[in-house]
Amino acid sequence: MRKPRDARSWNEYSIVSELRSKERFVEEVEFYGDVGIALIYPNDYRVASSSLATHVLLKGFNSLENVRAERFFYDPRFSKYYSLDRLTPIDQFRIWAFSVNFELDILNVFEMLNSGGIPLKREERDSYHPIILIGGSLTYFNDSLLRSVADVVHNGDLDRDFLDSLDEISQSMTREKIIETLAGSESVPSLVNSFGQSVFITPSSVFGDRFLVEIGRGCSRKCRFCVSGYRFGDARFRDPDELLDLVDRVSVYSGRFGLVSATVTDYPFIERVVEHFIDREYDLSVSSLRLDALSEGLLEALKKGNQRSFTIAPEGGSQKIRNLFGKGISGGDIEKALYMGVKSGFSHIKLYYIYGAAFEESADRNGIAETVRGALEMGYRQVVLSLNPLIPKPGTPFAALPMESAENLTKIERELRSLLKIKGVKADFESIRESVQQYSLANIDREGAERLLEHLKKERSAASFLRKYAEEINLRRKEWKMHGKKEYSGC
Ligand code: SF4
Repeated sequence: MRKPRDARSWNEYSIVSELRSKERFVEEVEFYGDVGIALIYPNDYRVASSSLATHVLLKGFNSLENVRAERFFYDPRFSKYYSLDRLTPIDQFRIWAFSVNFELDILNVFEMLNSGGIPLKREERDSYHPIILIGGSLTYFNDSLLRSVADVVHNGDLDRDFLDSLDEISQSMTREKIIETLAGSESVPSLVNSFGQSVFITPSSVFGDRFLVEIGRGCSRKCRFCVSGYRFGDARFRDPDELLDLVDRVSVYSGRFGLVSATVTDYPFIERVVEHFIDREYDLSVSSLRLDALSEGLLEALKKGNQRSFTIAPEGGSQKIRNLFGKGISGGDIEKALYMGVKSGFSHIKLYYIYGAAFEESADRNGIAETVRGALEMGYRQVVLSLNPLIPKPGTPFAALPMESAENLTKIERELRSLLKIKGVKADFESIRESVQQYSLANIDREGAERLLEHLKKERSAASFLRKYAEEINLRRKEWKMHGKKEYSGC
């Protein structure tokens, strides 16, 4: 392994070593194979270490005798990039495997390729360049841009077929042969029934020093804005006996757990699991709750797990919006959930809302402030709001909907800010600029992808292209403005 030779590289090396030194592995991972794969999560370490994709891929790839996969994460300060696992510089890896789970992460992929002097377009790379493999959540609903960039795209979950293809790779194979061997995967996302769990624990992750266990995949709820409900398959769940056995075994390393699923409250065995956690005094945190499926037992377990606050997602300020979103929840459900939280001793709550749908009106937004006031009257001391513009995504019933323009969203944000100037309320708004970029990247087609890559040859930033491209998509959806609005107005 080459040691850093300059101050900047030493700095990178030290940052990565420091993060690695705080990780505790709960499963043994062997790094022996000849075929080096850089396993890259193109976001910061905090997010990368919290994603079960990192853990599942690290374990799955290294279970193959021929493969040695080492982890990397994105950092705008880095240029050399050293692996977390063995501090190997990234340029020593033949295959760079990116797990892209958020639209904006693709921009970090571009940064990393640029910093390695690697052409962004697949056809402009030659035998000296690493093979770029891309998988991750983005492949479930739009792989157009990824297919212009990657030599190989794997759609959907990591499955046995793909691992079998990797197993056939040898160090002596040509670049073309490796691509051909791995490219057998189809563009239909593969969906598996196995579940992920932490391979290592680190205090630097989003969830803190917790062992994460995936208890379900997919979602059967079908909220109309959500790709999970439409693209990630019907809900499937981990066996409860296996789950409880796992947490008991892991409790020698950590009694702090995070349950991960599209909706934890839809897990059919949640009550049994919660009782077990309370009995054993495990510290519990959950990734998401359906407010109409909350139980006192679950809230009690969360409270015992030292969670100061709990999070629910009414999504819409009025019943009209909630109905149009297909949320299947009423004002009464929201009130009941808020009441249960107070009764369980919570004084802080976080509420998720989506605003700016083309069919939304001011009256719909007033409902957000009414709910917040109701929560404060019930006894909450702090209400945190996460307010996100609606981003219509492919594969959902909102696929043909235009996104509200940045100008209008800015006006609506201003209106909401003034509406929510209430003591005890903190309103966090998602960046409108980044939301518009997400919309472009989520909906980009093959022709748009080629244009974006050409743009990036002339300009380092994708921002101006993505802003204009969002307008183009909206223009193509102008039909909706004429007919759709009427269709939605009667609800
Ligand atoms: S918003 Fe939540 S409940 Fe609705 S479909 Fe998506 S994951 Fe399921």
